Amino acid sequence: MTIAIIAHDGKKAEMVGFIKDHTELLQKKSIQLIATGTTGSHLERAGLDVEKMESGPMGGDAQIAGRLVEGKIDMVIFFRDPLGKHPHEVDVSMLMRLCDVHNIPLATNHAAALRLIQTL
Ligand code: PGA
Repeated sequence: MTIAIIAHDGKKAEMVGFIKDHTELLQKKSIQLIATGTTGSHLERAGLDVEKMESGPMGGDAQIAGRLVEGKIDMVIFFRDPLGKHPHEVDVSMLMRLCDVHNIPLATNHAAALRLIQTL
């Protein structure tokens, strides 16, 4: 199983804390992580194994969307910052749309991510 992890800048610290809180579960279930570039670097610095794509504004969300369409991603956890402005909003919308097209579970905030990860 592969989970895609993405966090806008204002949410990266929260995301790292969330993943660290669930590292044992992720390891026990042999779950692979894939992330946009900067989010992935933060996770690596926290000692986690993660496959990194390009950074979000450079196409990382689009790369993750491509993997999802290929059937290679089982869940998306995206800590969005609703108060920030993001140059790649169109890519983010595309990724969320494709989650719906392909019926892939998507959490866009901490509370939803918590609920979703408890289903693993
Ligand atoms: P980043 O991208 O992890 O490279 O910052 C996240 C995003 O799509 O905003």
